Amino acid sequence: MLRAMSWDRVILHADMDAFFAAVEQLDFPELRGKPILIGGSGPRSVVATASYEARKYGVGSAMSMAVARRRVPNAIIRPHRFERYTEISQAVMAVFRTYAERVQPISIDEAFLDMSPAKARFDSPWTLGRALKRDVFEATGGLHVSVGVSNTKFVAKVASDYDKPDGLTVVPPDQAVAFLAPQPVKRLWGAGPKTVERLHALGLRTIADVAACDLGVLTAALGSAGHHFWRLAHNEDDRPVDDTRVRKSLGAERTLTDDILGADAVRARLVPIAEEVARRAEAKGIRGYGLRVKLKTAAFQIMTRQVHLPHPVWQAEDLLRHAEGLLAEFDLNAPLRLVGLTLYDLVDPDDPVQLELPFSTP
Ligand SMILES: [Mg+2]
Repeated sequence: MLRAMSWDRVILHADMDAFFAAVEQLDFPELRGKPILIGGSGPRSVVATASYEARKYGVGSAMSMAVARRRVPNAIIRPHRFERYTEISQAVMAVFRTYAERVQPISIDEAFLDMSPAKARFDSPWTLGRALKRDVFEATGGLHVSVGVSNTKFVAKVASDYDKPDGLTVVPPDQAVAFLAPQPVKRLWGAGPKTVERLHALGLRTIADVAACDLGVLTAALGSAGHHFWRLAHNEDDRPVDDTRVRKSLGAERTLTDDILGADAVRARLVPIAEEVARRAEAKGIRGYGLRVKLKTAAFQIMTRQVHLPHPVWQAEDLLRHAEGLLAEFDLNAPLRLVGLTLYDLVDPDDPVQLELPFSTP
């Protein structure tokens, strides 16, 4: 049996299976074995989580509830019970903390564990994974978690999704590149729809294609993000499991060489700023629910307006559209010396829907 002792790092990613739906089926036995959709029933509602019985019909997270209902007419729709999910989440995270000193939750039902310091405690990564799965099952009274174990966060995360539900996938470091190879490029950490489009335009469809691509071609098309994706494709990902730093916001601002006056001038200055924020957000795989516009007058008075959105945004067009809405709320009669734009209430790109729940229920 392969031992993790010789690995440079042992990183585990744990992700609860169909979390909200599974909690409903746990608490209400009559829902077990049935197609369940968690979400609101209003015209703009989206599916937060679908039970595996419903997923068979091709419904999934982020799909419009109306479409999902058409596909699964007999689905049972349940509103979310966020407090209950939070309670169970806390129990699950407590289990994780009995395994690792460093636990980095990345959403309500998902976390990275740095098992490197504890690797000698387990015969193998499989023993570790099975023990963790059993403890989560017991602590929650019957919920399954899927687990991926490897030596980087990136591969551990892809691995936890590999054999869902109730999966346990161990990827030894020397097999990581081969494991990643057949995966579609959308699996690359931080690759949003735009990046995927650009990679496809280059003829790159799998992670193997990206790994084999000339680095110069990638950076020409994607800038520094191209280098980031190329490194991921080679399993070069030295990000630590970080339980301390929580990124609160991502923004950019420009102090102007000459003062400007009026909404049109502000709008024009916002374009490159929004593009910069969007580029950095995409490279880091970040989206945000909050958008803030900051202006500073020539007299150094700072003014800010912000908006909380029902869906997370990161693309430049969306940032600009919402910033435009905020401009109407400013008194723009004074000359300005600084324009800034900040994205806050950030979410991980792989889990946007669950976090948006508290705001999307009508
Ligand atoms: Mg999950």
